[in-house]
Amino acid sequence: VTTKIRAAVLHAINEPLVIEELELDDPRPDEVLVQIKAAGLCHSDLHYINGSLSRPLPTVPGHEAAGVVLACGSAVKSVRPGDHVVPLFVPQCGSCESCLSGRTNLCRYFGVPESEPRIFRAGEPVGRSSTLGTFATHALANERSLVKVRSDAPFNRIFYCGCGVTTGVGAAVFDAKVQPGSSVIVFGIGGIGLNVLQGARLAGASTIVAVDTNSEREAMARKFGATRFFNPATCDGDVAAALLALTEGGADYSFECIGNTAVVEQAFNACHPLWGRCTVVGVTPNGKMSSFNPQSFLMGRSISGSIFGGAKGRRDIPRMVDWYMDGIINIDDLVTHRIKLDQINEGFDMMRSGESIRAVIEF
Ligand SMILES: [Zn+2]
Ligand SMILES: [Zn+2]
Repeated sequence: VTTKIRAAVLHAINEPLVIEELELDDPRPDEVLVQIKAAGLCHSDLHYINGSLSRPLPTVPGHEAAGVVLACGSAVKSVRPGDHVVPLFVPQCGSCESCLSGRTNLCRYFGVPESEPRIFRAGEPVGRSSTLGTFATHALANERSLVKVRSDAPFNRIFYCGCGVTTGVGAAVFDAKVQPGSSVIVFGIGGIGLNVLQGARLAGASTIVAVDTNSEREAMARKFGATRFFNPATCDGDVAAALLALTEGGADYSFECIGNTAVVEQAFNACHPLWGRCTVVGVTPNGKMSSFNPQSFLMGRSISGSIFGGAKGRRDIPRMVDWYMDGIINIDDLVTHRIKLDQINEGFDMMRSGESIRAVIEF
């Protein structure tokens, strides 16, 4: 028995996604069948479409979504049919060495290839992103890759907690642990950077500098907490030196939210030489390197990275949804475009051109 689904399929790098009817297997004992209600278009999906990250094709992309449980395997305990859920591209099994360590949010099941296909096209297997594949009317998720959320929260907002919101807000609040009164520089004011800005504001930072080559992002940056806007394209000299001056000696925290190895270097060199902490949030292309003067580390600058904002999905997403529902974080203004599954390629065009912050597919 299978579920007939409609899904967007990536057949070849840099080709438009194709909307097709596919078959989704029935849930195994530890799996849950989810009806997808809203799915966001994330930059990581674009990385797979343009080949800067690679995976076997054909595949159903999509990893940022919200939906309703339709059916559960016999061993599933934490959700039941009718529950509203957010799928997790970083699982949280709760019992592996990583989950129990208290030192990482990356469960041992994160990034592990699937043992058997779950989606088929005329009997032939089709892959899926992040063991989810949410650009589809339905998805199968392992119980460890799913969290129940409150049922009064709108799907076309909370889908964003499945990746971008949690990644950005969490990078500032959970990973870098931005302190009240501190200074922060955020490089790249898109769907992630805006969330880092509001995370820094939530944490009580007093100076928040937004850096982007697109000056049209300034108004949005200020709405999400930026106190200054800096456009590197208007800077003749060294960008890091200009930002050291602007922050009177260097930021306490900097965040790279683009995935550009040269900007990672700028972000590192723009933070305070004795205690500045640079956090890499953007996904840099495979094989590309950044370089640093190791003497900077001796003096006290540090650099680290953040996946999914250091969040553990089953623990932290319900809290993120509460923050949205209580007006503590703003998601409404980030969801700039509502589209249908058939418009997914136009949605990625808007992402490429910078017209959208977040486009959401509503089912
Ligand atoms: Zn994402
Ligand atoms: Zn685990």
